[in-house]
Amino acid sequence: MKKYDVVVIGGGPSGAISAWRLAENKVNVVLLEKGSRLRVKPCAGGISNGCYNLLKVPDELVERKIVKGLVVSRSNKSVYVGSAKEPGFIVYRPAYDKWLMDSAEKAGADVINNAKATKIKIFEDKVEVTAEVEGKEEKYEAEVLIGAYGMESNLSKQLGIETPKYINVIQYELELPEKIIDERIGDAIEVYFNQAYSQLAYVWMFPRRDVVEVGLHFYAGTNAKMMIERLDKFIKEHPIASEKLKGAKIRLVEGKKLVADTIPTEPLKKTYGHRFVVVGDAAGLVDPYSYEGIFYALRSGIIASEVIAKALEENDLSETSLKRYQDRWMKEIYEEEIKYAMKLHKMSYGHDLSDDLVDALVEAAIEDRELRRIMGWLLNHKYSRKYAYNALKAKQSLIIKKLGLIKSLKLLFKTL
Ligand SMILES: Cc1cc2nc3c(=O)[nH]c(=O)nc-3n(C[C@H](O)[C@H](O)[C@H](O)COP(=O)(O)OP(=O)(O)OC[C@H]3O[C@@H](n4cnc5c(N)ncnc54)[C@H](O)[C@@H]3O)c2cc1C
Repeated sequence: MKKYDVVVIGGGPSGAISAWRLAENKVNVVLLEKGSRLRVKPCAGGISNGCYNLLKVPDELVERKIVKGLVVSRSNKSVYVGSAKEPGFIVYRPAYDKWLMDSAEKAGADVINNAKATKIKIFEDKVEVTAEVEGKEEKYEAEVLIGAYGMESNLSKQLGIETPKYINVIQYELELPEKIIDERIGDAIEVYFNQAYSQLAYVWMFPRRDVVEVGLHFYAGTNAKMMIERLDKFIKEHPIASEKLKGAKIRLVEGKKLVADTIPTEPLKKTYGHRFVVVGDAAGLVDPYSYEGIFYALRSGIIASEVIAKALEENDLSETSLKRYQDRWMKEIYEEEIKYAMKLHKMSYGHDLSDDLVDALVEAAIEDRELRRIMGWLLNHKYSRKYAYNALKAKQSLIIKKLGLIKSLKLLFKTL
């Protein structure tokens, strides 16, 4: 039995940053990750400006510096938003997560790969985790546990908490020569709003160096085959996107043509208990407007590490003491971000006026520089969702003019 102060399960951004920060604070921490150090995690690799400002990415990990975003509406009107002064970045997720795990290790954490946690036992005075480590069963004892295992429902069940509600996503990695991507897409992310393709939110085209990540969102319970056909149709037939993707070849990811995964849509009501907290996707902390998750995974991991370092100092790992973790993310992440991203979600997705709204927004933004900046913030997360939502609200007369009074009133009733 190996003994630690903290055991972290999961080496994605939320778990790795927790272990990194705790180790920097001289806390004795072990991180168990079921995959290898360079394990694949389906992701478009978008690091927003806000996320980058929280944690700078080393230059060698930047696949592309993003200086603008192209928003395309259902009627194929389009506008570039954002600014080179507020850049985002595209990384290759396995390499980004490896860097985070390496950093945690350099700071002093024990990072154990190919270690799948199978059993969690919470006792009054300790936590015990059983893991399969390269075919052998190992046990780890700690004062407290951080659950950073993403959407792994089996572990949440053992902790007696829920698994977050979710949507589905599918994505292709499409290969094109770097020069062609430079010419056709450049240093821009592209988002296509059209419910004939993506059921909610958008189809994304995020360019890496010689690959474009192309994927879409859909509701849980929808026929996945139908959604794959829609994504294929988008790639082959969309009047703007198909030209940009002409000649692209599918790059296999772990032998598969298409990756499919889930993204949480709502924070859990309770993300802590006696001697444990859950962070990142496991806690449902993802932006429900853009579905950006890395930023909140890092933020919740940092908050968890600070609260736990203090709780260890005070020798109080009770539920009451760890409630401070949830109090902090409620204030810093929910009240400033998710609450307003939910308003944006309600206004923008899941009804018959979704596409009309984006048409109106794009038309208005073509004419209004300030609106282009605000729409840029929705993509690059330069400012909080609260700030961007209020800035957008101040532009409502412009949007109503484009959308028309009747549709605007209908939209208002839908979102009340
Ligand atoms: C297709 C797709 C595209 C996305 N694109 C973006 C994007 O461009 N930008 C963005 O910000 N967000 C994006 N997201 C969301 C983002 O990937 C997640 O929100 C983020 O990865 C959450 O980080 P995490 O550390 O909480 O969980 P994860 O990154 O899921 O990490 C969880 C880790 O736990 C490990 N694990 C699970 N079970 C066990 C176990 N039993 N024992 C040990 N280890 C275990 C897993 O192997 C994994 O490494 C995307 C998501 C998807 C699916």
